[in-house]
Amino acid sequence: KVVCVTGASGFIASWLVKFLLQRGYTVKASVRDPNDAKKTAHLTSLDGAKERLKLFKADLLEEGSFDSAIEGCDGVFHTASPFFHDVKDPEVELLEPAIKGTLNVLSSCSKSKSVKRVVLTSSIAAVAYNGKPRTPDVVVDETWFTDPNIARESKLWYVLSKTLAEEAAWKFVKEKGIDLVTINPAMVIGPLLQPTLNTSASAILDLINGAQTFPNLSFGWVHVKDVANAHVQAFEVPSASGRYLLVERVCHYSEVVGILRELYPALRLPEKSADDKPFAPTFQVSKEKAKSLGINYIPIQTGLKETVESLKEKQFANF
Ligand code: NDP
Repeated sequence: KVVCVTGASGFIASWLVKFLLQRGYTVKASVRDPNDAKKTAHLTSLDGAKERLKLFKADLLEEGSFDSAIEGCDGVFHTASPFFHDVKDPEVELLEPAIKGTLNVLSSCSKSKSVKRVVLTSSIAAVAYNGKPRTPDVVVDETWFTDPNIARESKLWYVLSKTLAEEAAWKFVKEKGIDLVTINPAMVIGPLLQPTLNTSASAILDLINGAQTFPNLSFGWVHVKDVANAHVQAFEVPSASGRYLLVERVCHYSEVVGILRELYPALRLPEKSADDKPFAPTFQVSKEKAKSLGINYIPIQTGLKETVESLKEKQFANF
């Protein structure tokens, strides 16, 4: 079978490409610049890549850009989307590529006669910010949708970009009759295949590279291999439908630091929160639906250890 992965050089997508090649798929991988070895060498050296990986040039903002990568594919994994918090112009840097890019990819899918299912990498960002209180007894599940007004008012631009992109995707596929499944992971950790530093790994790097404080935030955390595997399952399991939240465990940053301290007792880690407020409460995230994809979560301890080891190996960590 032939599948397309957009944004193939990214953190999650690289693992997805690896797993797809392992499973015998032919992978049409879109990247912005196929000639940039820094973005592609880790892909072209994967087992099976020589025979079954083809690189395509595509940009989220160029209409029709994904046509040739998607033509003839049975499935499309749309992972490409900018993931940054530090932006000057959110409209240009985040919202446009996320929303227009998603519609661009979906319209290439609607033109193709071969595509049977599209798997979209959405996020818990498109689920959990709806103004409902988040406390330890609250269970966030797939029926939740982030309220774009709340995201906009709070200037959570990345959250807004993922929310509007997923919303636009559901609207488009309803009109065009495309089979869409979304994967909505929490913060993704685990080893990096790509040589560049992605945003969720940099959240861990900040903690181990001498920060004085940790953010006063509680997040869900999930291993990149589980996320990549869930994408594959979402395509392969015929009954898969709708959205799938992926969270191994919800932890406050103080707990993440605690786990890191147990793993690396000699390491200087931040001792206090970035503000004097009470710690942001944790909450629960339903694991029920993801169970039907057969996801058996890798524990956060393993994910954190592998993230740190990978950051060391790639010389991002300064110890
Ligand atoms: P990366 O930054 O590693 O990957 C993002 C990918 O998007 C890169 O391949 C990047 O290409 C591509 N991209 C960005 N802008 C454009 C553009 N204009 N045209 C074409 N490609 C573009 O991040 P992740 O792997 O973490 O993210 C992958 C997906 O997963 C995203 O949709 C993200 O929102 C989602 N996600 C991530 C989570 C996490 O914690 N990591 C959690 C939940 C969801 P290039 O390499 O050329 O910059």
